[in-house]
Amino acid sequence: MAASNVLRIVVVGPTGRMGQQLCQRITAAADMELVATIGRPGEGGATAIAAIDWRGVDVLVDFSHRDAVTTHAALCAAHGVAWVLGTTGLGAAEQAEIGAAAMRTLVFQAANFSVGVALLRSLVAQAAQALGVDADIEIVESHHHHKVDAPSGTALALAEAAATARGQRLADVVRHGRHGLVGPRVPGEIGMHALRLGEVVGHHQVHLATATEALLLQHDARDRGVFADGALRAARWCAARRGLGAVGLVGMEVLVPG
Ligand code: NAD
Repeated sequence: MAASNVLRIVVVGPTGRMGQQLCQRITAAADMELVATIGRPGEGGATAIAAIDWRGVDVLVDFSHRDAVTTHAALCAAHGVAWVLGTTGLGAAEQAEIGAAAMRTLVFQAANFSVGVALLRSLVAQAAQALGVDADIEIVESHHHHKVDAPSGTALALAEAAATARGQRLADVVRHGRHGLVGPRVPGEIGMHALRLGEVVGHHQVHLATATEALLLQHDARDRGVFADGALRAARWCAARRGLGAVGLVGMEVLVPG
């Protein structure tokens, strides 16, 4: 962190839905400085990456697009800038680049920066383990009609938590939607369903059922600001450790243990 104790941040995507929330909060925070914003070529308000003195940057906060991962991974690794990464819809190739960057700098990656969702994840793991491997689990997520990936990164993370808690590999048991003559439900399956509706910020439901009882755990994000608040908490967490030379890939478990 800067000697002045002000956390110096670059935000990706100043005109994006998340970028706008982040810029507003950083500008209003006494302990933070918005050094610059970067974005797509020609994006209004964005600065060219080459024009930024990265020695004076503590954290890159990035809610953008998978196409930006290669550039930002190289940038953060080269300059030792901590990377708070919220972009979802990433593939294995991007995830490998993120892992490589985390060998050289701190990367705080979360599919959902809400503290409530981190708690939900922990509760889902607990419930899945308690009800056992034969319980039916169906995850239903709703998001605004602009969202480009499905199911949401959060829904996948919840499914992963449930599968791991009951000793399954998600890839072996996941079932994306149902249509036609699909036959009876396969025991142990985890169903995933995506709704796209108006301006819904983010709603996740995890249904768990046995033959004799049913449980519904759910979270409703009411304002996109919840993700920005979490991302800036993550930025503060990184800044406090970056000066100590910390590297590695962490997630919301460091803010919400258990
Ligand atoms: P958006 O489309 O409103 O904004 C995306 C921004 O990224 C735009 O400013 C765009 O110009 C910029 N951008 C796109 N491609 C780029 C590139 N190649 N290089 C640099 N900048 C680029 O989207 P949004 O709703 O703000 O969401 C952005 C991402 O964050 C999505 O992947 C979304 O799923 C994810 N998201 C994550 C969380 C979380 O908590 N982890 C919460 C909300 C959204």
